[in-house]
Amino acid sequence: MLVEEWPPAEMLDILVHPDDTLRQLAEEVSTFDSSLRDLARCMRKTIEKNGIGLAAPQVGVLQRLIIVETPELSLAIANPVLVSHSRRLVSIPEGCLSCPGEQVRVPRWDEIVVSGYDLHGTKRSMGLTMLDAIVLQHELDHLNGKLIVDENGVQE
Ligand SMILES: [Zn+2]
Repeated sequence: MLVEEWPPAEMLDILVHPDDTLRQLAEEVSTFDSSLRDLARCMRKTIEKNGIGLAAPQVGVLQRLIIVETPELSLAIANPVLVSHSRRLVSIPEGCLSCPGEQVRVPRWDEIVVSGYDLHGTKRSMGLTMLDAIVLQHELDHLNGKLIVDENGVQE
């Protein structure tokens, strides 16, 4: 799940709302091969300079694969599932590379446990808090066709 080393990879084009692909339900990853790892590498490269998370549907791939790149966490996870969460909701102004110019506060659990698979198909689970937990929940929404602009939250 933790990605230590990444060879050079290509930047991918990011789909922008209201692209239909962003509204589809992504399918479970079933093959953990080098093309999945290449995709993850390219996704990471794509957000290297201006993002902290990305979901595969944002680059036109309808598979349940997400990348999280926060100051404390470098994560690639396939088929992520929210296993449990705290009772406390928090919200920060969230941006999204697929919704340029939008900043929306979306209620998110401040602590979560997520399970999923690393890029080699090994099942993992981990606890995440605050920013890491928020980004994970944001990316999970993408896998279900949901965007921050759907929220009734306060538009900043
Ligand atoms: Zn997003």
